[in-house]
Parts: sequence; C-alpha cells; structure tokens
Amino acid sequence: MSKIVIIGCGNVGMSYAYSLINQKCNVDELVLIDKNKEKAEGEAMDLNHSLPYSPNTINIKAGDYKDCSNADIVVLSAGANQEVGETRLDLIHKNDIIFKSIVTSVMESGFNGIFLVATNPLDAMSYITYKYSGINPNKVIGTGTSLDTARLRYMLSKKLNISPKNVHAYVMGEHGDSEFIAWSTALIGTINISDKLTLEEKKEIEIHVRDSAYDIIKKKGNTSYGIGTCLLTITNAILNDENAIITVSAYDEEGLYISIPCVINRNGIKEKLDINLNNDEEVLFEKSKKIIKEVIDNSI
Ligand code: NAD
Repeated sequence: MSKIVIIGCGNVGMSYAYSLINQKCNVDELVLIDKNKEKAEGEAMDLNHSLPYSPNTINIKAGDYKDCSNADIVVLSAGANQEVGETRLDLIHKNDIIFKSIVTSVMESGFNGIFLVATNPLDAMSYITYKYSGINPNKVIGTGTSLDTARLRYMLSKKLNISPKNVHAYVMGEHGDSEFIAWSTALIGTINISDKLTLEEKKEIEIHVRDSAYDIIKKKGNTSYGIGTCLLTITNAILNDENAIITVSAYDEEGLYISIPCVINRNGIKEKLDINLNNDEEVLFEKSKKIIKEVIDNSI
C-alpha cells in the first residue's frame, strides 16, 4: 500500500494530483491538506470524479496532519507564490514561517517517509524542511532543477529535431537565476550536443530556460503542469524503487541543498552523480552554492 499526502492544494499541488490520477502510478491513497479546508474538500471531490476513467484505483480524501503518520511521501507545495516581477528568493520569509508550522505538524504525526518539496525558493525550502524535521537529509528531496532540465530537454529537442527522451542534458545549481547548463556533459544519444550549437545558440537556450518561469507567470499567472509532471516522475522513482537519475535538490557535504543529477529510489536519494564539470561550469556551480548559502545565512 502506498500513501501520498499533498500539503498545499493550489496550482502546483493539484496539477501533481491530476498527473497522479491520469498516468499509471503505484499510489493507493491520496490525502489533500490545505489551510483552506473547503478547497481541499472540493479538490478531493472533483478528483474522485475522474476515477472511473483513470488507469488507477486510488482512495482520495481531504484530511489533516494525522494522515501523515503512515504516508510514504509528503509533498510540500504550500506557501506563497511568485507575483509578477518577484524572484523566487523574495518568498523566503513568508514561506519559512509557513513551513515551520507545517513540517512540525507532519513530524508530530509520527511521519517516517520522504518529503518531496516544491515550494520556492526551492533550495532554501528544502533545507528548511530538513532543519525543522531533523530527518535523514537523503529523505528530503527538492524538485530542484528537474523542471528546468525538462524545459532544456524540450527546447533542445525542438532545435535538433530529436525526441526529448533521447536528450541527456542537465540544468544544475540553484533552482533560480544562477542555475546553469552543464553543456560539457550534454548528449543526444551518444553525441555531444555542445559541438552542434554555436555560442549564440547556447546563450539563447540558456536565457529561455532560465526565464521561462517569468514568461509563463506574466502570461498565465503561475506555472503548474511542468512541475506537476516532475513531482510525478520523482514519485514514481521512489515508489517503484527505480534508481532513476533526476536532477533534484539534494543535501551536499557543505550542508546545503543544491541540484545535481541524483539516483533516486525507495530510500530517497541513493547517491549524487560525480559529474565531470569543466572549469567554467565549476565556477558557476560554486556561484550558485554561494547564493543559496547567503539566502540561508541571511534569512533563516
Ligand atoms: P497557490 O497559491 O496556488 O497554492 C498554495 C496553496 O498553499 C494554497 O492553496 C494555500 O491555501 C496553501 N497554503 C498556504 N499556507 C498554508 C499552510 N500554512 N498550510 C497549508 N496550506 C497552506 O501557489 P502555487 O502556484 O501552487 O505554488 C506553490 C509553491 O510552488 C510556490 O512557492 C511556487 O513558487 C512554487 N513553485 C515551484 C515550482 C518548482 O519548480 N519547484 C514551480 C512552480 C511553482
């Protein structure tokens, strides 16, 4: 039996729930929690009405923190969202206060599973989840640059006319403005992508990947489907014990959460891949680390 609890039934939480219902997954129970209880109840009712046409049989209900006691995964998508012009880092103070109460309540239930964090600023919120929960840091997974990596793979697939499934390229570092593309390791099939693109083309793709969220928020007010599918992909990696490689925000030896490609299975983060970055990429990775560290040191 696998059980998921979603805390925060907004755009992100519900896009994830809708992905769970519509793609084959190994989930038996889904519980929705929101500070707005009526919203959680309405969402549960609406989702239940998809079940006759879903490939899955899931018991869905609105609940409370007691439901976390035997959950396999608690997904954290509660909190303030980016307003137009606001960076992800601007959200830290509001979301720290919200997470302190949420994570404490989850732990008081006796929860012993894996936290999957989507709330921004993502790397800091993953650290905050680890700090307030006190659990094994490999059982706190931030969605990190899984979404930015998906955006990159989509854009490269369009540019090179190759299925995104055969594009092996990663966005690393902060889930935010200092993220970078590890071009030196990017492949289509077995062929290095870096040699196929000019510097200008790479720059253009980098800007598109980095600024996608701002563009989408300007046009529709939030981003939701991409992150919903990333959450589903990470959920499947955990529940199916897949040892799948996904770029997620993971605890590192310096005590920060930052994105690198990781192997994910039933126990959470099994290992972080030892990536051979070139000198320029190492500099960008260190810059991202510094920014995340400053946010944590100055804001929490
Ligand atoms: P939203 O405003 O639609 O939903 C947030 C939900 O959290 C609301 O339903 C609200 O009632 C609930 N909430 C607030 N405080 C709560 C509390 N104390 N307890 C329980 N529920 C509470 O926002 P959204 O668009 O779903 O975005 C949620 C978060 O996800 C934001 O921080 C956003 O920036 C982030 N996000 C992350 C990614 C990513 O790649 N990781 C992508 C998109 C959005």
